[in-house]
Amino acid sequence: MALAPGPALLLNPPSPPGLSVNREGFGGLGVVTAAGGFTYPAHALAELQAALVRRKFSVEARDLVLEPAARWSREQRLIVVRTAVATLAADLAFARARGEADPDARLVLWGTALDAHRQQIAAELPRAEVESGYDAEGLAARIAGDAVLDVEARPDADWAGLSLGPSRWIPLWHRRGCTHTCHWCPYVIATGRQIVARSPARTALEFRRLVERHAPKRVVFRDPLFAGDATDALLLLSRLAHLPALARAPFEVETRPECITEPVAAALAEAGCVEVKLGIETFEDAALRQGERLLPGRTVADYRESVRSALLALQRRQISVRAFLMSGLPLATPRGDDAAAAALADLAHVTRHPWRDPAASKAGCS
Ligand code: SF4
Repeated sequence: MALAPGPALLLNPPSPPGLSVNREGFGGLGVVTAAGGFTYPAHALAELQAALVRRKFSVEARDLVLEPAARWSREQRLIVVRTAVATLAADLAFARARGEADPDARLVLWGTALDAHRQQIAAELPRAEVESGYDAEGLAARIAGDAVLDVEARPDADWAGLSLGPSRWIPLWHRRGCTHTCHWCPYVIATGRQIVARSPARTALEFRRLVERHAPKRVVFRDPLFAGDATDALLLLSRLAHLPALARAPFEVETRPECITEPVAAALAEAGCVEVKLGIETFEDAALRQGERLLPGRTVADYRESVRSALLALQRRQISVRAFLMSGLPLATPRGDDAAAAALADLAHVTRHPWRDPAASKAGCS
């Protein structure tokens, strides 16, 4: 049922005691670390705030992970609680308490892959509506009962009231989604295997306004596969490289090695990229084929060479590489994982990312 504009409260619940929860990141499934772990600012809520403000809602948004003592001011017509599978029990308890404090508000739990948990949520918090997904504009349109705005015309993420955290590493997106078929990928659980893209001009404009308004120490492109379309990426990077000095900021991207060609590496450096996160797997044929990781017609030797050339191209330009080694993939062997780690050791900072059920873990892109 459509909700008329009114006061709305958007909340990222606090981390459970002793933990740091990251409900952001594009998989959005929730990454839990020991207390003090890195946490992205609440990009999804910033986007939802923008979409609701455009619809004349009066919004308060608070990130209780980064700012546990944050307060809000009034009775609400709408409460949206960012909810992650990895912290579902704690998030439900939090949402229940918020709902009890404001019994007339419409209560929405919003998060990736919540579809699989509808029964549990209905049993424990029957009053809550469940919104499974990542698309803030779609959610705002369903709440307000109006049309979804074209991706190009959507407003910038609105960070008012949301902590940017001590790091001031602020997320941005350009192309969401991925059409590759890696079996272990959590991103495509969030997005489906489809691309939602903005034009280079639109993204560069938001980059510029983000830097001018918020002075990030780093802009973090949350695209799961940056430069999946090389032509488009080169256009975007050229625009970023030509921004005025005060509108530029260091940034990082995440992608797979095949996307880091020489021209892309050069353009990344020129535009101000300081770090590339790469998902990398074992160099074992059976595991790569089983997981549908190899591009059509490519061999393990091709893949290995694309990894090596990507790392060298980035290293030559002093762009830091964080390699997420996807260890433990089906049919991979410990020896194969060790060999891949050894091959990367001199060229990148390597984090081992043990494979688990993608419905319960998030990993870097590969
Ligand atoms: S791991 Fe990366 S390349 Fe593979 S499907 Fe996911 S986003 Fe696409």
